[in-house]
Amino acid sequence: MIYPDSDENIKKATELLKSGEIVAIPTETVYGLAADAANETAVSKIFEIKGRPNFNPLISHYAQVSEIEKDVIFNERAKLIADEFWPGPISLILPKQENSRISKLVSAGLETAAIRMPNHPLCLKILEAFRGPIAAPSANPSSRISPSKAIHVKNLFQDKVKFILDGGDCNCGLESTILDLSTEQTKILRYGAINAIAISNALQGEIVLSPDDKEGIKAPGMLLKHYSPQTKLKIDFSLENIAADYENSALILYSFSSIPPEKLNYLHSKFKSVFELCSNANELEAAANLYSILHKLDDLSYEQICVEKIPKSQISKAIEDRLKRAAA
Ligand code: AMP
Ligand code: MG
Repeated sequence: MIYPDSDENIKKATELLKSGEIVAIPTETVYGLAADAANETAVSKIFEIKGRPNFNPLISHYAQVSEIEKDVIFNERAKLIADEFWPGPISLILPKQENSRISKLVSAGLETAAIRMPNHPLCLKILEAFRGPIAAPSANPSSRISPSKAIHVKNLFQDKVKFILDGGDCNCGLESTILDLSTEQTKILRYGAINAIAISNALQGEIVLSPDDKEGIKAPGMLLKHYSPQTKLKIDFSLENIAADYENSALILYSFSSIPPEKLNYLHSKFKSVFELCSNANELEAAANLYSILHKLDDLSYEQICVEKIPKSQISKAIEDRLKRAAA
């Protein structure tokens, strides 16, 4: 069931988590399926409900750095990143403390763990009251589209998830940037809203490697197929020379505002429906809308969904990354 934002429901969610239950909670990135990261039985429910392979580790969430320091070695680079971006959409991979509360299942048996302080008022209230690590991967079955609204969680899981706390639409809408600070070389493992240049600036100009700098897959969960709709998805769709028959297809444009009106009319005549990721070419809005548009279109039984190539911007790499996985 979906529970509205109230002090009583926040208290209820926290109590459920303390007693080893799982609840769906809002964050600024996407809705999370949350459990006490110190409780192996609770965490195993997340893996079961999501159908997530258990070699794919989870991110633990906190509201206080003092709590984080009990579980991982919070090094100098982590402090700089935290000062600059937290609470916010960037997760850090750090070495686990010897007596870390984060269970082995959460960190998939690795010596390192992923941690984050999310920027959502309801989520922070729960984390503050909880005072410990809360594991919270996206609240979707593995490889389905991530939820950016409470209703998406309900539609994806029906009554398998009994408690969904409604925190409104996720205003970031893409999973967090994942930054590996566990080795000497700082490396982005997953693109997100916070990009390499901003990270390098926060680290006083240090070089930051990107996921494209190949040297083996470090993030065990970086499966190619991920965040996918069930409808066939065609990415980098060219708007030139549209010959084929698209009358049962949907087209997602970046922004109507960047297409001349005659061209827009023409596209409307070729496709069953035409949508835009954002109005006025606003990249943050595009990121926030991506999953909710995919959810909506996936329910409308189009033959296929075509997506125009995303123009270069601060977070276009993150959006392209999610589209590539969705189309895989
Ligand atoms: P999410 O699916 O959004 O919860 O993000 C979890 C992802 O974080 C995993 O799929 C991994 O790619 C990454 N991750 C978590 N823990 C680690 C770790 N210790 N080392 C490397 N990557 C990690
Ligand atoms: Mg996920």
